[in-house]
Amino acid sequence: MHEHRNPSDIAREALKSLAIRHLAPTPANYQACYNEIAGLPNVTPFPEAGLKQVAEGLVPHSEAQRDALAQLDMAIAGRSWQGVLGAIQAFCVASPVQSVGENTLLPKAFAATLHQLLACMLPALGGEDARFAEATNALLALLKAPACEIQPLDDAVRKLVSLAGYVVEEHVELRTSLLNLLHLIIQNIGDLSIDDHWFKGQIDGLLAAVDQPLSLRHLDDVERRLRDVIDKQSRAKVRSVEAQEEMRQMLAAFIESLSAINESSTSFQGRIEESARQIEQVTRIEDLAPLLKDVVSASRAMADEAANSREQLKTLQDKVLTTEAELVQLHVELDNASALARHDPLTDVLNRKGLDEALEREIAAVRRRATALSICLLDIDNFKKLNDSLGHQAGDEALIHLTKVARACMRPSDTLARYGGEEFVILMPDTQLPQGIEAMTRLQRELTKAFFMSGKDKVLITFSAGVAQLGNEETGGEAIRRADEAMYLAKRTGKNRVLGA
Ligand code: GH3
Ligand code: MG
Ligand code: MG
Repeated sequence: MHEHRNPSDIAREALKSLAIRHLAPTPANYQACYNEIAGLPNVTPFPEAGLKQVAEGLVPHSEAQRDALAQLDMAIAGRSWQGVLGAIQAFCVASPVQSVGENTLLPKAFAATLHQLLACMLPALGGEDARFAEATNALLALLKAPACEIQPLDDAVRKLVSLAGYVVEEHVELRTSLLNLLHLIIQNIGDLSIDDHWFKGQIDGLLAAVDQPLSLRHLDDVERRLRDVIDKQSRAKVRSVEAQEEMRQMLAAFIESLSAINESSTSFQGRIEESARQIEQVTRIEDLAPLLKDVVSASRAMADEAANSREQLKTLQDKVLTTEAELVQLHVELDNASALARHDPLTDVLNRKGLDEALEREIAAVRRRATALSICLLDIDNFKKLNDSLGHQAGDEALIHLTKVARACMRPSDTLARYGGEEFVILMPDTQLPQGIEAMTRLQRELTKAFFMSGKDKVLITFSAGVAQLGNEETGGEAIRRADEAMYLAKRTGKNRVLGA
């Protein structure tokens, strides 16, 4: 019966069948429907059942692979070869293990390194966060397993990454608030002791130190400055409590002697009044003599008493003056305490004591990490002439200017210290000799650009410097001595030069 059909009817029927069965309008599907309606054998049957079996056998390892499988199911149902090919390609591309080819296991050595990295980082990051610690431990366990499959590792790493974001954010916030707190405390200490010039300088230095981005070096600096401040404050407190106690005792003694004076003058008054009354009643002159004797002796006793009291008062007054002088001396002493501090009060860079400590710390780091430390000694050229022509005050300002320019062009890890009058030492960690010389030449250049202004006069400051790289067996003192020798050679050969030792 089909044979009698008109081919265009069959074609129309075939299109209708495609639509009704929701088949993809591909030439193959059209051909299959056409053949079916025309009663012709189906030459290329669509292997729907077989493909379904294949699709069921594929296990998705990611969201993208799941999407590709859904796409494949639709393509099979729609009998679309193109669709099937596209879906299988998408499934393969989305394979998470594709980058290591057929290998789905993490190489053992790599797993061990990852394990080490995570174990190192855990205390720094996730110590307090239970969820982060749990996720890290889960990952550590996977990495420790005899065979490390990449897929579960990938999932565990993803989980850790999402938690790490929060943890790191929290750490940054914590650090910022701790710094703010420190800032506040220091400011408070400063507000409590505004009357002391040296103290105020230390506080300003402290505030500047905690303003910088936080680093162990800066914290170290803050700690040393705080120690100076605390030391000075406690010494000042002890002395002022002592002085207060002395004053209190003196005041008590003074009040006591005042009342003694009062008492004796009262008894004197009594005696005189009594004598006056008796004198009034005397009728004979010979009776007057003993009474007058009384009055004289009472007056003499009173005069003695008064002299005594005067003497006592004089002693007290002397004592007050001594204590006052002692307090002035205490103030001077405490101001001199800045010499015990680690910072030079004029330039605020480290002083010799501060340098010694910094040197000790840097040398320990050099030995530990086997890196290079370059030490520079610089001495301003013709500084005496500058002092003589512009005055000592200008000389002081020139020293401050030099330290400011030096600080601005040094690396944050470098240390600047005042070694003597117009001599400075710069410690440059992680720096080989040629780079150390280069850094000092750069400072020379910066100084020719940043003029020192003395009033309206532009003054060019130059220096001569020697740079030494710390030797393996060398002490800091020996290295500075070598730098000093190189500096003197630079002076002798014309000044305004940097020489390596
Ligand atoms: P040279 O180029 O050979 O180094 O000569 P110089 O004049 O720089 O060196 P010299 O050692 O002859 O003189 C250094 C001067 O530095 C002498 C001293 O008065 C002065 N000086 C030291 N400390 C200070 C300070 O704190 N302030 C001021 N204004 N001058 C200082
Ligand atoms: Mg000198
Ligand atoms: Mg000099």
